[in-house]
Amino acid sequence: MDYFPLFLDLQQQPCLIVGGGDIALRKARLLLAAGAALELVAPTLNAELQALHESGKLVWHAGVYTPDQLARNWRLIISATDDAAVNAAVFRDAEAAGILVNSVDDPQHSRFITPAIIDRSPLMVALSTGGGVPVLARQLRAQLEALIPHGYGDLARLASELRPLAKEKLPDPAARRHFWEHILSGPLPDRVFAGEVTAVREEITTALRQADSSTLKRGAVYLVGSGPGNPDLLTFRALRLMQQADVVLYDNLVSADIMELVRRDAERIYVGKKSNNHALPQDEINQLLVKLAQQGQKVLRLKGGDPFIFGRGGEEIAELAAAGIDFEVVPGITSAAGASCYAGIPLTHRDFAQSVTFVTGHRRDGEIELDWPRLVNPSETVVVYMGVAQAPTICAKLIEHGRAVDTPTAIVANATRADQQVVISTLGSLPDDLAQAGIKPPALIIIGDVVKLHATLNWRHTQ
Ligand code: SAH
Repeated sequence: MDYFPLFLDLQQQPCLIVGGGDIALRKARLLLAAGAALELVAPTLNAELQALHESGKLVWHAGVYTPDQLARNWRLIISATDDAAVNAAVFRDAEAAGILVNSVDDPQHSRFITPAIIDRSPLMVALSTGGGVPVLARQLRAQLEALIPHGYGDLARLASELRPLAKEKLPDPAARRHFWEHILSGPLPDRVFAGEVTAVREEITTALRQADSSTLKRGAVYLVGSGPGNPDLLTFRALRLMQQADVVLYDNLVSADIMELVRRDAERIYVGKKSNNHALPQDEINQLLVKLAQQGQKVLRLKGGDPFIFGRGGEEIAELAAAGIDFEVVPGITSAAGASCYAGIPLTHRDFAQSVTFVTGHRRDGEIELDWPRLVNPSETVVVYMGVAQAPTICAKLIEHGRAVDTPTAIVANATRADQQVVISTLGSLPDDLAQAGIKPPALIIIGDVVKLHATLNWRHTQ
């Protein structure tokens, strides 16, 4: 993080602008909107600044900038001149005096920078590209402007008006948060945007008077598929639940990019392989889910891919069902589907494969338990999950049971992520190619004639 974001309360606070032109005017308007006690140093003022001065909105010190002007306890200073030497001098003096300083469009001479903003006061969205590419921030702002209805300001004002009542009726912070989540994800915000502020205020007030902390604090578990790792492939439902969770249980398959989208305040519990290479045993995970939900928490169990495909999701919710805990299961894009699309290998195709089978190469008691004779049909695609460690055995068994040695294969590692890797091979040569390519998990193996299509359909030119 290059800059620390914050929102500053400048009501009645002494602030200084150096400069009297258009840029100074823009900054003056913002500072005045924030209630600052504004003063300005400049030899001359443009017409609008002059008008502000004459109407008593700001104090003007006519003349050039001199260091003694900083001998006051300014909260912040903005240098808005087109003279680099003045900006540098203001910066140097303000730094020496410990006053927050910004030189417009000059990050070198700024202690703080100002963001692009979307103003729906009291709701405010501020964004920054670290002073690097203001155009990018502006583009994003245009998109967000379109996305955030103007009524959000009314909604935020209404919610803050009702805050004292909410605190009184629901003293427990978690119950209060659940109340607002429920209200804000329902139909009421749309009615506020449509102008029905008074009616909605009454409805929320009634709901608050009747609110019952014990039901609001009822725990639940959300078993959510997070897909193969690329955050663009999350479902809306997954994202919404990720932003509401009190606690999140996750493991190796959930990518760091996806964890970034989980509510910042949520407690995170890692249940994957630790440095000693032991995952938390499945029954301990199951029990932990039950325990956390019984404490009244909204528990997010985040899984790689889809929770019901080689994810042991069924076992986790069986335990919840037995304990009478509310739960919901949200599908995710399974890694075979992600790998298939992002490597340009359709899993079925009229000319090459009429069916597809997903199998696991995981061993149970030292043996891969697969029905080999069923996997050698040349018009069927086989996708092997968790198969990299056992790849030589899997290839040998398929050949032994009659699948052609030259059947095309693809190993797709880190499918859909920026570091996706695809290794094209054949059943006969896969073990050697795999060893050479230095594949790191997670990876899956696609076996069948459809792999030939990669040569023409690959659209993602990573490796
Ligand atoms: N529930 C998951 C699968 C869990 S089993 C799903 O639906 O995808 C774990 C196996 O999934 C890994 O060994 C690997 O074979 C596969 N896998 C998961 N994410 C992957 C990814 N991004 N790229 C390639 N394979 C992946």
